[in-house]
Amino acid sequence: MSEPVDSHPLADLPLDQLVACHECDLLMRKPVLKLDEKAHCPRCGYELYAHRHNVVQRSLALVLAALLLYIPANFLPIMQLHLLGQSSNDTVWSGVVGLYNTGMAEVAVVVFLCSMAIPLLKLLCQLAVLLSIRLNIGRSYGLLLYRIYHHLRDWGMLEVYFMGVLVAMVKLVELAELSLGLGLACFISLLLVQVWLEVVMSPHQIWSALSGEDLHACD
Ligand SMILES: [Zn+2]
Repeated sequence: MSEPVDSHPLADLPLDQLVACHECDLLMRKPVLKLDEKAHCPRCGYELYAHRHNVVQRSLALVLAALLLYIPANFLPIMQLHLLGQSSNDTVWSGVVGLYNTGMAEVAVVVFLCSMAIPLLKLLCQLAVLLSIRLNIGRSYGLLLYRIYHHLRDWGMLEVYFMGVLVAMVKLVELAELSLGLGLACFISLLLVQVWLEVVMSPHQIWSALSGEDLHACD
């Protein structure tokens, strides 16, 4: 028989002191972490929280680096293709235009959204959120933008696009002479910087700084 809720040891705690594991839903008392400490779920081992130092400064540096890489990653050639005396430079943008011109407008729109528009919007949301914490202005807008960012996360699919490029390369290498472009290096760097940013920009610290619960959460 399950335990009555009233006699549960966590039943008397206020809700803001409780946390549920994202993976297995185990309810726990919220851990208090010192710098560079991590809290894991005792049941499934999922990393609940990590308290990192200088979150805002480090994340800002990474967001700016990603924004700088965004333009060459999308507009410099990913690869050069030499076939039967003809050569072509392929960029992410020329891929979108090419799809559109060959009558695949719907696919072109999806590729444009997932590989160009949404990744840029995500970066701009992150930039605005970090600036609102850093400059201590418009935190309510910061909260809204951070919510939007979490919805956009599922739709920016640079990794999928990158896998597509790799598959195309493996198939084309037998048919044509292929040389890799600077755009590919920028594209891979952009992917790595974004992964690094996900690690550094610890969500619970950003949420508590934005909601005003703990103004020094990101120090
Ligand atoms: Zn768990």
